[in-house]
Amino acid sequence: MNVLVLNCGSSSLKFQIIETDLDLIEKNADKQKAKGLIERIGSQSLVTLQADGKSANKQAVPLRDHRTALDHVTKWIISHDAQIPGIASLGDIHAVGHRVVHGAEKFTKSVIIGDDVIKGIEDCIDLAPLHNPANLKGIYAARELFGSAVPQVAVFDTSFHSTMPETSYLYAIPYQLYRRHKIRRYGFHGTSHRYVAYRYRELTKKKHEETNVITLHLGNGCSACAIKNGKSFDTSMGLTPLEGLVMGTRGGDIDPSVIEFLMHKEAMSMSDIDAVLNKQSGLLGLSGLTNDMRDLLDEEREHNDRRATLAICIFAHRVKKYIGAYLAEMNGAEAIIFTGGIGENSPTVRQRVLADLDWLGIEIDENANVGMISGKEGEISKPGSRVKSYVIPTNEELLIARDTVRCVKDVPRRW
Ligand code: AMP
Repeated sequence: MNVLVLNCGSSSLKFQIIETDLDLIEKNADKQKAKGLIERIGSQSLVTLQADGKSANKQAVPLRDHRTALDHVTKWIISHDAQIPGIASLGDIHAVGHRVVHGAEKFTKSVIIGDDVIKGIEDCIDLAPLHNPANLKGIYAARELFGSAVPQVAVFDTSFHSTMPETSYLYAIPYQLYRRHKIRRYGFHGTSHRYVAYRYRELTKKKHEETNVITLHLGNGCSACAIKNGKSFDTSMGLTPLEGLVMGTRGGDIDPSVIEFLMHKEAMSMSDIDAVLNKQSGLLGLSGLTNDMRDLLDEEREHNDRRATLAICIFAHRVKKYIGAYLAEMNGAEAIIFTGGIGENSPTVRQRVLADLDWLGIEIDENANVGMISGKEGEISKPGSRVKSYVIPTNEELLIARDTVRCVKDVPRRW
């Protein structure tokens, strides 16, 4: 089956075409055929389209909305320009898989999208006012374009974490607030944590229920996950993606009293404060320079910038704190796995996160760490390290495509 995987943001549309099927999943032989990104939908959009094995085609095109953007993408997919093997018309796209950020307690696994599912995703908008409406735009557009003959599947960022116990997901606020409004921790990046745990099992031949690892998704958004007996046991993001680790522009954990303090001292409104915590904090807020880790590392190396160093150190310190907490919660783990743009590409950050943890049995192999080539997966711990460390590039799109196939064929996934 050719699956179109869509990940829609408020003004962006990311896609991949992946050929997969039950036997291809079994053989791990799925094939990415094309990918692309449209940014700045609603004005002069930046369009990047790339068929497998060919160079990327970049253009500026005025695209009014997500529906027009999807039209543009699908016209290219079936065009002579793209020449994607096995795809000559829209009929060669057999299913569409959508990334949906928030599924709350309603969606604990991926589902075929019908009217009831759309209503359910709409009901979760309160919990993800920025993300779910954008995801829905992609769903509405694809339904309109492909019609009901092409099945569509929603894969939720939250669903992997639905196995968390109450002790992990409840906030210690009056219990009736959870009952009344479902205020609790949900966690995000679930598809990424699930993917790297799966790859770890493939690499180590571990059984699902024997997998006890800590996965660290360190990108522009960052989260840690304690995976116990193969299931999410705890994760650092909460009701929204704001909680937990230091991120590009989000500060992660803070004392909630800071909010009232800011209201008085800086005469800020709630929406001003929301913008500070979501868009002006984290690496950007600490450094005063950028939310981009690569640029901060350059600043540190080339200019010895004190605030760049401070931002990187606080970032690593927070990750370390979560590793310690999760090792205690899980009564130990067998491996720590890095993924995401920073986790996959920065030996310096990995080194700072894992430095001085030898007492806990975590020893990083400097040569293996520095020698880990971007895009490759493998171990970076010393041979005798009691807790192993790995780098595993994430591939959320692949899992979305696989879940789509399983839902369409009505085959429950094993993990
Ligand atoms: P993501 O959101 O997963 O795409 O990750 C984006 C983050 O990864 C940004 O902070 C980038 O600066 C960072 N990143 C990408 N490549 C590198 C690299 N080689 N070294 C350090 N950080 C990197």
